[in-house]
Amino acid sequence: MPLPSVVAAVATAGVVFALVCVVLLAASARARAGASRRAHRLLAAGAAAGALTTAGGIAASIAVQEHIVHTQHEKTSLGSLLALGVAVSSGLLLLGLLTLPGAAPSRPGMLRYLLDALVIAAALWFVGWVAVSEPTRVLGDRTPFWCRPLLIPAAIAALALGVSVITAMRAARPRGPLVRVGTGVTLAAVAGMGLAGGVCQGMTALVDVSAVALPAALGLVAFAARGTDRWPVAPVPEGDDSPALDEELSRRGSAYAFLPMAAMAASALYHLVRGGAFDMVGIVTGSLEGFALVGRQFLALRDVKAYAERLRDREAHFRELAHTDPLTGLANRRGLLSALEDEQAPGAEAVLLALDLDGFKNVNDMRGHDVGDAVLVEVGQRLRMNLRPGDVAARLGGDEFAVLMWARPDEATRAASRLLRVLGGPYEQETGTVFLSVSIGLAGCATVPDVTTLLRNADLALRWAKSHGKNRVERYDVEYDVKLRRHTELEHELRGAIDRDELHLQYQPVVVLPDVRPVGAEALLRWQHPRLGKVGPDEFIPLAEECGMINRLGAWVLHQACHQLSRWLAEGHDVWVSVNVSPRELHASRYVDQVKDALRAHRVPPQRLVLEVTEHAVSTDVEELIRRLGDLRETGVRIALDDFGAGYSSLGQLSRLPIDILKIDHSLVVPQMVRVVVELGHQFGLEVIAEGIGEQRQMAMVVEAGCKLGQGYLSGWPVPAEHFEARLESASSPARVVPVPEQKSDREQNAGPTGRRAHNVGAVDSSREMRQA
Ligand code: C2E
Ligand code: MG
Ligand code: MG
Repeated sequence: MPLPSVVAAVATAGVVFALVCVVLLAASARARAGASRRAHRLLAAGAAAGALTTAGGIAASIAVQEHIVHTQHEKTSLGSLLALGVAVSSGLLLLGLLTLPGAAPSRPGMLRYLLDALVIAAALWFVGWVAVSEPTRVLGDRTPFWCRPLLIPAAIAALALGVSVITAMRAARPRGPLVRVGTGVTLAAVAGMGLAGGVCQGMTALVDVSAVALPAALGLVAFAARGTDRWPVAPVPEGDDSPALDEELSRRGSAYAFLPMAAMAASALYHLVRGGAFDMVGIVTGSLEGFALVGRQFLALRDVKAYAERLRDREAHFRELAHTDPLTGLANRRGLLSALEDEQAPGAEAVLLALDLDGFKNVNDMRGHDVGDAVLVEVGQRLRMNLRPGDVAARLGGDEFAVLMWARPDEATRAASRLLRVLGGPYEQETGTVFLSVSIGLAGCATVPDVTTLLRNADLALRWAKSHGKNRVERYDVEYDVKLRRHTELEHELRGAIDRDELHLQYQPVVVLPDVRPVGAEALLRWQHPRLGKVGPDEFIPLAEECGMINRLGAWVLHQACHQLSRWLAEGHDVWVSVNVSPRELHASRYVDQVKDALRAHRVPPQRLVLEVTEHAVSTDVEELIRRLGDLRETGVRIALDDFGAGYSSLGQLSRLPIDILKIDHSLVVPQMVRVVVELGHQFGLEVIAEGIGEQRQMAMVVEAGCKLGQGYLSGWPVPAEHFEARLESASSPARVVPVPEQKSDREQNAGPTGRRAHNVGAVDSSREMRQA
């Protein structure tokens, strides 16, 4: 077979192979979806155009060889047709490459990408032009004459190379398959150019080589494209030009542009040195390169600006998050502090309101944390809706809120009272209505040196509002500071008071009326501090309860009193001693054992010891109190209900309480009251002691009411043990029998005035009830 026939057969096989590639790519497209399917379709279309062009090229070459086509004009016309086919084929392949997943960035980045490819393409074109034009002419006499129709395929081939280079540098990893597709597309474009150029020039050998190379390049495209989605490529979200990618692109962009520019400048210089001139092609190419670079820099600058703006937005967003309470959407502590540190409105004063929900813990405990959260959210909404312009509301944590107001203290106090009403309204929840109140502490910044002091002052005022009945607004007063300092100092000093021997007991006589003969004594605790002087029990007992010292103090008092009592009994005095017991002590699990231990240690008959429980203890858990008092009474000691009539306790509860003695509070020592309580006490089978008898008139009234026992300054001040002892001695000569209040039987305890159990009439103000009775 002659050589041209062999070449024709190989070329024909190439066409068949190209068609197989088309089929493969079309099948791949069908098996894929989305962008990948579109890309494979474009590649298949490009390959089909390439196969047709190859067939056309072979046919044209045979026509030239067989002299069917012999004029240059005819060759140029055929070459132009082929160039058109090559342009269509390369263009479609290039588009397919760009559409492959992971090849090009998102749509906004596409322009950048193409400009970068253009920079390379223009430089390549320029270098190629210098190489083939006068005076360089590297191909010498074999230099093809300029064939105008080749302009477009040549431009596309240069662009394909540019895109391939950029893809190799920047495509999403893994890049291997994409780089192979890019190489295939570039080779196909170059081979297509060779095909068209060969026909134009009448160079059949070039046509033959190109007719083999083009299908081979298409084969590379077809096989490489199948692997482009073998590994999952992270999808690039449409329209979201990631700032990180942006940054990387602009960084890489400057590095890659250097090489083409350097090549272009070197070839231009060489061209000039060799005496070459710049015709239209050179000027256009140079300008194109310049514009591509300028455009690319413009885009990079725009991207950097957009990136900086996005960074600023994000920073602002994160700053806002860091200053916001996630549950209520109000400011958090940090937000409040930054608002406080900001410039304040001229003429206005910063007033800080510290708010705390009263009893919110119960809402969480009883109704669950979801309801608790819902209530907190509503508190936040109510606060927000009742703010004045410029005010800042914050949640400082838990059920603590704060409001920063730019107002005069009087205005702020009015606003705080309004908030008290608004926040005190019912909270309708799916599981039922929640009722809450709020305590508010208010502090102005007029005299405070810094924000920390302002916060502390508002907090102090809040504590004051809490400890003075809650559900109220309290304005900060310097006096609070003095009190707080003393409170802290007392608490500190109290801890060492027993060890430093600063405590002692005084005994106030309990006397038989009307002859004022002492029959018992109430042990009252005294604290003499070397620097602070006398500190009253009214001040330090609540403090000891607060700081957990009360159990230790109570145990000390119990032992001292029992010790003293045992001495008096040993000396033959017929006397009893009462000791005050704080509700906290009573609820300690070991208290009953402590009492037993003290009685045993000092060999005191239990009925000689009276334990006084204040009426306030009744307002807590009554059932528990009854259990505790019952246990205590089983030891044989007697129980007195102290300060009766000063607080809230129920007459019904009185009949249920396992007590022996009723001590009428001195606030009740007025004629009608005393009579009613004495009668009531006696009907319940209780001994009644009238406390606080300070005047003769009161004494007469108490006696007249039928009360047989009394206590007060008139019959004796609280005095040291030896003074009381002297009194006992003087009273016991001549010796008289002193009655000890008898312990009620259990049946009597539970019986009402007529021997029946009294009904629980619920909690009432006992003093008011007395008055009404
Ligand atoms: P309390 O148990 O009701 O004690 C009676 C208080 O009334 C005593 O005050 C006493 O000095 C005072 N008092 C006595 N006679 C009169 C009077 O004629 N007129 C007036 N206005 N007051 C009179 P004190 O000693 O200051 O004790 C105050 C409270 O401190 C006691 O009230 C008691 O509740 C508590 N307390 C005292 N010592 C102890 C203790 O050892 N343990 C506990 N837990 N509490 C104690
Ligand atoms: Mg008492
Ligand atoms: Mg009392």
